[in-house]
Amino acid sequence: ADSTTKTEVVILGAGVIGLSIAHVLTTKFPNAYNVRIVARDMPGDLSSQAFASPWAGANWSPIGGFDERTHKRETATFNKLWDMIPTGLVLSLPSRIYYHTADGLDQLWYKDLVRDFRVMDASEVPAGAKGGVRFTTVSVSPEAYLPWLHSELSARGVQFVRRRVHSLGEAAALAGPRGILVNATGLGARSLVGVEDAAVFPIRGQTVIVHAPAITEFVSFPLDSPSPNGEATHMIPRPSPAGNVLLGGTFQPGNWDTSMDAATARGILARCAALAPVLASKETQVLGHNVGLRPARKGGPRVEVEWVDTPLQSELLPVPESSAAGRVMVVHAYGFGPAGYQNSWGAAEEVTDLIQANINAL
Ligand code: FAD
Repeated sequence: ADSTTKTEVVILGAGVIGLSIAHVLTTKFPNAYNVRIVARDMPGDLSSQAFASPWAGANWSPIGGFDERTHKRETATFNKLWDMIPTGLVLSLPSRIYYHTADGLDQLWYKDLVRDFRVMDASEVPAGAKGGVRFTTVSVSPEAYLPWLHSELSARGVQFVRRRVHSLGEAAALAGPRGILVNATGLGARSLVGVEDAAVFPIRGQTVIVHAPAITEFVSFPLDSPSPNGEATHMIPRPSPAGNVLLGGTFQPGNWDTSMDAATARGILARCAALAPVLASKETQVLGHNVGLRPARKGGPRVEVEWVDTPLQSELLPVPESSAAGRVMVVHAYGFGPAGYQNSWGAAEEVTDLIQANINAL
């Protein structure tokens, strides 16, 4: 098929979710779709706080949404990332997670998926926690991973268009009649006229990036109960640049503040140094302080098909009457909160399956 017979696909959003969807769709169906990624923030905009993807840990470590759909997405993603370790984009990462309880740790759903899983002995658990698990998982560096996805997609002919879109009607018009629109706008889904999803909210995350080659494990302390002011404590070594580690952090639902808080930064450094004294030594270089907003959604991520007839009007923002009339398949894929990377490949497969299952109704 040439471009005149290919189905038009517009993916709104160039975070890890939109990019992964484009990757899976063009891998499974190299000739069926003409894919354009339309986004305000591009994968190279690694210092834009207007999207979440540059600021992630980003490791695979389940932290909520314990339903079957999430397990399926996270399983697919773990397997894909594990297979990518030889590329150098993904680090094989020994992990220690501490909990406020020792109950049920031998029943964690992913115990047979990750490598080397075992429940810690009471003697291995420091004061302040009651139990813990060890396993080997993976992490990526957003600053390398997002540009990699970008270049893979460009090489396949996926077009990137920088544009802020104001409404679902405007986005559907870009896909055109008998086209497909994927809505991977993260927090943007709250403000996109015609979607206006009030269940979408930010979870603020402040972090510190350090160069500390001595830190070779992911450590999280304790994960199941962030403190009342949203403090969490974790260290995530990343594949590149080698020796860099993300220290966290905060988990502050409903907080839209993207400015760095100095007291919070000192708290992060002090809590992490208590776990790993090397962080307080001269060997450790502090490289930067970051804040990102995790695009969460009450009730969990939205991954579903909605049919739209164009031109789709809204009294808030009418689209030109001249827009061509016709049906557009909209597939929503947003609201992954703290787990967008670890859901990414599975979510992309789910969206690709939804497109295939509905393509005959276009
Ligand atoms: P985003 O990355 O926010 O991208 C949204 C895209 O939509 C952008 O391109 C944006 O420009 C575009 N857009 C929005 N509105 C419009 C519009 N109106 N017009 C045009 N374009 C629009 N996840 C993990 O899996 N593991 C981790 O360890 C991890 N750690 C994290 C640590 C921190 C501190 C933070 C902040 C996040 C972390 N996350 C982690 C979460 C992860 O970063 C997010 O879940 C993920 O990046 C969401 O990706 P997304 O593509 O859905 O959204």
